[in-house]
Amino acid sequence: MTTLTYTSIEDIEKFHETARRAFDSGKTQSIEFRKDQIAQIGWLLRDNEDRWREALRADLGRHPQENDLLEFVSIYTEVNMAYKEIEKWTKAHSIGFSVNWFPMHPKYKAEPKGVALIIAPFNFPLFLLLGPLTSAIAAGNAAVLKPSEQTPATSQLLAELLPKYLDNELYHVVNGGVPETTKVLELKWDHSMYTGNGRVGRIVAAAAAKHLTPLTLELGGKNPAVVDPKVDVKMAARRLLWGRFSNAGQICLCPEYVLVPAEFQDTLVEAFTEAYQRFYPEGPEKSDSFSRIVTTAHAARIKRMLDGTKGKIVLGGQADVDNRYVAPTVVRDVPVDDVLMGEEIFGPVLPIVPVKDVDEAIAVIRAKDHPLAVYVFSTDKKFQDKVFKSTKSGAAVANETVISAGVPGLPVGGVGPSGYGYYSGKQCFEQFSHYRVSLDNPGWVDTVAFGFRFPPYKPDYKKH
Ligand code: NAD
Repeated sequence: MTTLTYTSIEDIEKFHETARRAFDSGKTQSIEFRKDQIAQIGWLLRDNEDRWREALRADLGRHPQENDLLEFVSIYTEVNMAYKEIEKWTKAHSIGFSVNWFPMHPKYKAEPKGVALIIAPFNFPLFLLLGPLTSAIAAGNAAVLKPSEQTPATSQLLAELLPKYLDNELYHVVNGGVPETTKVLELKWDHSMYTGNGRVGRIVAAAAAKHLTPLTLELGGKNPAVVDPKVDVKMAARRLLWGRFSNAGQICLCPEYVLVPAEFQDTLVEAFTEAYQRFYPEGPEKSDSFSRIVTTAHAARIKRMLDGTKGKIVLGGQADVDNRYVAPTVVRDVPVDDVLMGEEIFGPVLPIVPVKDVDEAIAVIRAKDHPLAVYVFSTDKKFQDKVFKSTKSGAAVANETVISAGVPGLPVGGVGPSGYGYYSGKQCFEQFSHYRVSLDNPGWVDTVAFGFRFPPYKPDYKKH
């Protein structure tokens, strides 16, 4: 296992100061410079794909195909989009013709906020840093990245390779655990972006509040999937299991539980069983298509949840904590107050909660915090609408799971306790920008208009 070299407190301060000075020098003002750095992110990945795959395999036991699909493609998409769209995103916008205002040429334009801080979790240790970094660079910022200490191989490799590709003064990697992150959070940033759990999200928000630093929070939650009998149940089963078992369930957009009419539960379980056997014909433990849990502590946490469930395990259920293995698991007849229905599982366990009807399903969803996504599996548009209109979430997705995050141009974000602000494309670029307004009013305007604003005001003006 890789030992991660932690950044010293002195270096953290030095990186912060260097980034600030480099930003103040004005070199990020040039769009050509930004494009060059964005392209370099692409090369940082492309030149070293095998080393990244190896690191991600060590940290998360991921198959290269899953890596390409969920981690690499997302980064290339961000890089290509920012490179292509940057001129459009950064151009000045006028307000259109207006008799009153046209001589002043009023405009607004996205300008960089300054020095950004980006803190990422372990589940997509590369994309969740390089994606927002692409947006931060497109917007003209300097940036300091704080990878997760729970993925030592990937975080170490990032600290080694990033300086070889990107400007050494503007962009830095700080590695470390709680003391290092606490130090980072004491410093003043012009924008912070944190992706991770809500407990730490609150610590980050409190630290940002001290400096009135604007913040993007990308947090987690419990994404429900409502299954209607009016559906191709085999399709629903394979998409739900793919969404729940990819990256061993460590995806913020994973379906966290399934709500199904009680009389349809047997049919759904049957379809899950068939899909499961197709996914892992030799059994999941032997399959190299199934990832591992990031740490033994997380594997033990998920095992404890499985040990405590009042539901009936129908698929999987085994755990080998020392080897960070928790079998892909389906649990049926899970009561709403079960341990699996409390905190986010963030592992390969899919509880099925039988309900009376769609109204009860909606009531279960509404009793919880707003999640990142609500999933509905149904061919009935009215059914879909009813669920989506009665609930709130970052995404409302029918007949699919997870992949909405991969669609170029669709932002990813939460609402309420699942976070605020957005990943991806223009919306993420905007997180790292502020709109600066400008106008220039010629002196002659006061003689034909706007002279009326100067005192003394008319004594008889709108007297009542
Ligand atoms: P994690 O444990 O890797 O922590 C995330 C970051 O917080 C790390 O960089 C870590 O160093 C830092 N950190 C941890 N404790 C800290 C403390 N006390 N003070 C300051 N910093 C601290 O990952 P995690 O938080 O377990 O991540 C999983 C969560 O992230 C899940 O809830 C998941 O849903 C969420 N997530 C959300 C999105 C999204 O787009 N909304 C994407 C991915 C993951």
